[in-house]
Amino acid sequence: MSKKIILPDYVIDFMNTIRASGHQIYLVGGAVRDILMERKTSNWDFATSATPEQILSLFPKAFYHNPFGTVSIPMTHDQQEQIFEVTPFRIDGNYQDHRHPDQVVWGSSLEEDVVRRDFTINAMATDGQDIVDMVGGAHDLKKGIIRCVGKPQDRFQEDALRMLRAVRQASQLCFTIEDETKRAIREHAPLLKEISSERVRDELLKILGSEYPAEGILLMRETRLLDVVLPEVMECFGVEQKSPGRHHVDDVGTHLVKSLRFCTDPDPVTRLATLLHDIGKAKTVAVDPATGTITFYNHEVVGARQAMEIAQRLCLSKKQQHKLVTLVRYHMFSVSESQTDKALRRFISHVGIEYLDAILALRHADRRGSGVPDTSWRTELFKKRLEEVQKQPFTIHDLAIKGPDIMAFFSLPPSPTVGKIMKHLFRLVDDEQVPNTKDDLMRVLKTLDSASFQ
Ligand code: ATP
Ligand code: MG
Repeated sequence: MSKKIILPDYVIDFMNTIRASGHQIYLVGGAVRDILMERKTSNWDFATSATPEQILSLFPKAFYHNPFGTVSIPMTHDQQEQIFEVTPFRIDGNYQDHRHPDQVVWGSSLEEDVVRRDFTINAMATDGQDIVDMVGGAHDLKKGIIRCVGKPQDRFQEDALRMLRAVRQASQLCFTIEDETKRAIREHAPLLKEISSERVRDELLKILGSEYPAEGILLMRETRLLDVVLPEVMECFGVEQKSPGRHHVDDVGTHLVKSLRFCTDPDPVTRLATLLHDIGKAKTVAVDPATGTITFYNHEVVGARQAMEIAQRLCLSKKQQHKLVTLVRYHMFSVSESQTDKALRRFISHVGIEYLDAILALRHADRRGSGVPDTSWRTELFKKRLEEVQKQPFTIHDLAIKGPDIMAFFSLPPSPTVGKIMKHLFRLVDDEQVPNTKDDLMRVLKTLDSASFQ
């Protein structure tokens, strides 16, 4: 007996509408996989014997404008809009009259849909009850295996992105890549150079954002895809950093991957920054002749430059580029309790309030990735102080007294003198010589001669 599947009612209703007008319809690809795994799905792809025009006539909101005949139908369920995509079977001449029974359609058209898909787990279909599994997808799904449909060598030559998709799906689902498929990736990895940066970027960010990003990067290393996508990280494996009195036990590459494993921020850009934070070390490594210690002076500056090259190469958005480079550039921040508030404010203005949580997540990951405990009292104190200093003035406008107070006090008209006195007060507060309260600042005013500010 074939395996059964249970689809949501609104999907069954949709399929029934098409069937009621005499057409066949199958749910295909990722959705079948997701439902069998009891995962939430966002891929509602269907294959049908109906023509695009016939589908358009059944659903008033449907639209299509692509050469494959894929019709998109917006569906609202639980107040969320999803797009159902319906693509006609590619029926060859003989079958276009639709007079042939199901068997024929299964034998040719649905099979065509199945064999063009990348992996067996993505190549199952269902009519709403039974699973149509022509390539052993259910077996591989149960065993947790990513395996190409057909000969891996051919499939990767047809579309080299599939190699990165294999790693991506393995990291999302915690699956292993079947041996022959993996060997073929290793053989064909350089073909990934032919693929557009945007497609590579999308898959890489999905790997980083997945449940097992570190395992994904290790798979990329093993299959040599990392050589193509992030050679800068590849270079870090084997760069030793063990020195007397230093906490590091791993080489730089291993430390980067371990850090990524501990990154608690789900944003793929923070995770990419975590993976890249020490890449500058491969270029700056040196041995201090006096002590024999390994040094990496300015690796964060060199690393930030490399991160910018990577960001541009991967066509990250301007905002993503800025975040990535900022996190790499400032990841060496000090959490020492002896820092002044002014130093903390400088740190905040370098990193930007928006990225504070991300850089703290990077620090946490960096620590865990070096084998030291989760956090330290210093880091906790630092976080508290970051909150505190954000309540203190950053600009002249945050001073507890304003221009009119100064004008009133010195009986001055609006003039540059007022601005100069404000600046003077700001410097005193910023240098922590005077607290930012109205009383304290008025006391300072009493000691000033306004004429000296003209
Ligand atoms: P996700 O859940 O992240 O959307 P997905 O497996 O559904 O993952 P999509 O990119 O949405 O991936 O593709 C939908 C389906 O189309 C896949 O399940 C697969 O069957 C097929 N597919 C996508 N890209 C390729 C490709 N490059 N070669 C062959 N088949 C592909
Ligand atoms: Mg999808």
